[in-house]
Amino acid sequence: MKRLLVFLLVFAVFETFHETSLQAQDLVHYKRIVKELSSPKYQGRGYARHGANKAGKYLEKEFLKAGVDEVVCQPFKLDINTFPGEMKMWADGKRLKAGVDFSMREYSPGVYGEFPVYHVDTLNFDPDQMFADLAKPEYANCMVVCEFWFTYRHREAFSRLQKPDECTNAGIIYTWTSPIKFYKAYGHRVVDKPIIWITPEAIEGVKSVRLKVDNKFLKDYECFNVIAKVQGRRHDSCYLFTAHYDHLGNLGRNVYYAGANDNASGTATIVTLAAYYAKNRPEYDMYFIAFSGEDANLRGSEYFAKNPIVPLEQIKYLFNIDMIGDDNPVQYCETSDEGLRGFAVFEQINNEYRYFKALNRGELAANSDHYPFAVRHVPCIFLENQEGSAYPYYHTIFDNWEHAVFDSYKPVFKLVRDFVARY
Ligand SMILES: [Zn+2]
Repeated sequence: MKRLLVFLLVFAVFETFHETSLQAQDLVHYKRIVKELSSPKYQGRGYARHGANKAGKYLEKEFLKAGVDEVVCQPFKLDINTFPGEMKMWADGKRLKAGVDFSMREYSPGVYGEFPVYHVDTLNFDPDQMFADLAKPEYANCMVVCEFWFTYRHREAFSRLQKPDECTNAGIIYTWTSPIKFYKAYGHRVVDKPIIWITPEAIEGVKSVRLKVDNKFLKDYECFNVIAKVQGRRHDSCYLFTAHYDHLGNLGRNVYYAGANDNASGTATIVTLAAYYAKNRPEYDMYFIAFSGEDANLRGSEYFAKNPIVPLEQIKYLFNIDMIGDDNPVQYCETSDEGLRGFAVFEQINNEYRYFKALNRGELAANSDHYPFAVRHVPCIFLENQEGSAYPYYHTIFDNWEHAVFDSYKPVFKLVRDFVARY
């Protein structure tokens, strides 16, 4: 009895040591990858300066270092509008800051010159009056300024401002709250007239703007998914751990979107999970997939779902980890219909171990890489940190290493690990 007690005590001490050393190692590993992916070397993991592909090459090496059995790259092509060069704007002669005061709509062409500004009267809005004003000589070749959601509510009138033969305005400037965001989801085309996002403070009362912005449309640009495999004892089914490693790239040659939360955080998580399973051999085969093209509208995951390297029916469960570099103790989840049974298991584990205060399940949406799999009936879950202190920086230049938060890494890691052991 006494010997058993001593044994249990030693075992408990060893286990605590084992668990903490393992976790500490994981967190160090995790942070190192988040820091690297957010560094200037990868220029926001976009396309203009090949940052995404450079990050993909780095991840290929990291997966191998993690001890996986093999890594393959799955190439695919996309069309994408980029801003690789000049990115300058002046408002009444005052130079504005790219990424802070203004940014470009993802499908905007480049723009050069000086333009009078027409401020839309949103308090007494009359579309006929607006078009009558814009027909006056002083507003020929002007930039029309309006709050974005207002233009959305009156999109019938405002869409005419985009058509070259319907109005003589040079372009549109949408106001948007600070810090200014940049999206790339619809960058697969370029529209006729420039569209600029700006903070209300930067354009208030301004009479003219000067712009010098280069764009470059890349057709059939080749990028790739990085797929690492850890062999299990059985090969008839498998688990998939996915995260996108691309981000928004450059806004001109000097500004880039580091994307520490979106999604260096999720990418680093799947690399450390790969390292864990390379050491702790699983029952089933495991694939760790870093997707490219996500912020360009789920292009990498869509390609994989159409051209899977393992039959989709063999996937026991898919975990898509996106933006967990935050500190809200609530985890946001989405599942496919087929993933619902698994969600009950996640809840059971979370109730037992209290990894998160709650798992908040929302409606399935086309907002990340689980979606192409969910619509193809793969059991899957999307894990994302509910809006915490990092969230205001979403798709801004401030989503960087300095603002990265690490609270959610361990709970997500353990939640997924426990799920695999129990499912
Ligand atoms: Zn994003």
